[in-house]
Amino acid sequence: MYQKIKHTLFSLIFFLLWARYLAMIWDPYWGGVSLDKGLALYRDWRPALTILYDVSGYLMAPVYMVYGWLAPFIPKSNWFPGMTTASVVQAITDMMSKTPGMQDKVAALQAPILKQSMVGYIDFLVVIATCFYRLMGPILDWLVDTAKNLIWNVLIEFSFTKRKEARYQEALEKRAADLMKLNVEYKNLSKEANMLAQSVITDELTKVYNKRFFLEKMTYEFKNAKDKKSVLAIAMVDIDHFKKLNDNYGHLLGDKVLKAVAQVAKGNTPADCFCCRFGGEEFAIIMPGKGPEEAVQIISKIHLSLPLLRFEDDVNLRTAASFGICIADFKSPQAQALTSFEDFIKLADDELYRAKLNGRNRIEHNHLA
Ligand code: GH3
Ligand code: MG
Ligand code: MG
Repeated sequence: MYQKIKHTLFSLIFFLLWARYLAMIWDPYWGGVSLDKGLALYRDWRPALTILYDVSGYLMAPVYMVYGWLAPFIPKSNWFPGMTTASVVQAITDMMSKTPGMQDKVAALQAPILKQSMVGYIDFLVVIATCFYRLMGPILDWLVDTAKNLIWNVLIEFSFTKRKEARYQEALEKRAADLMKLNVEYKNLSKEANMLAQSVITDELTKVYNKRFFLEKMTYEFKNAKDKKSVLAIAMVDIDHFKKLNDNYGHLLGDKVLKAVAQVAKGNTPADCFCCRFGGEEFAIIMPGKGPEEAVQIISKIHLSLPLLRFEDDVNLRTAASFGICIADFKSPQAQALTSFEDFIKLADDELYRAKLNGRNRIEHNHLA
């Protein structure tokens, strides 16, 4: 009876000691990093494992240590079948001795003194490891916590930065799209503004510069030429017998002819000169810096081109114009005597009148030099 109680008691103690080894594998203090997250089983059993770990760690380890040293001297048949480290070593060596060819090696192992030191050594290591772990536990916990926090913070910072980056990227793309839209709007607006500005100075029917532009330009060029004592030429153009053309063919064809004449005049006007509709069927061409030869040459081209115009409505319809040019070299006293551009235009108009008197379809010019 006494033997049975003793057997049961020590079997329980050593069951707990082995359970402690298992508990160490599932160590609840140690576990945080890898096990805490993944294993539901571990999580569910954690309180029980913690109790098991503490009980076995604080109460059983000293018992086990003492027993480990004493084990070889305790008759195993009598006390703890197969539960001690010594008996496990015994079982392994027994098994090895049954394997053919291993007997010699096992014989040496089975020497009691060797067995004792081996068992003692293993138990000693287990106890040292347990104590070391107990001691190191808080430090390791701190290290694990710190590493965990560090990794966590880095991860958070990283994901935050990533999110921030994505937000900035998104905002930037939106801004770029807005800018593109604004740019398009700006281009459209400036195109419209240009068109509007152009329409303000363009004659609607003939598409050459209008009277408003003519007056502004003339004011500027006259003053400029007078101040700089440079040359300025102006030609007045008047379509011949236009009233008759209107009467014979109607105003619609009259408009067509007017447009065609304007295109010819504009087409032969150099880029630095300005072809304007002066009014009715009269045009004025401002030629800054053009002397008598150049001015006459420009106007001659227009003069010679007009009779070449043909119209679908009547292939026999011909058109022509009379031209009066005044060229003023402001180095001369006569030119400097001109007080306003109106006087200057009047001189060109006089030439036009002369051209009409002299039979039309011709050029007359006056050179103030
Ligand atoms: P001249 O050779 O002496 O210049 O004779 P003309 O008939 O051309 O002379 P006048 O200046 O008397 O006639 C100009 C005509 O031009 C009168 C007007 O009906 C016509 N006219 C003026 N503006 C326009 C226009 O915009 N369209 C049309 N179809 N005719 C116009
Ligand atoms: Mg006229
Ligand atoms: Mg006329």
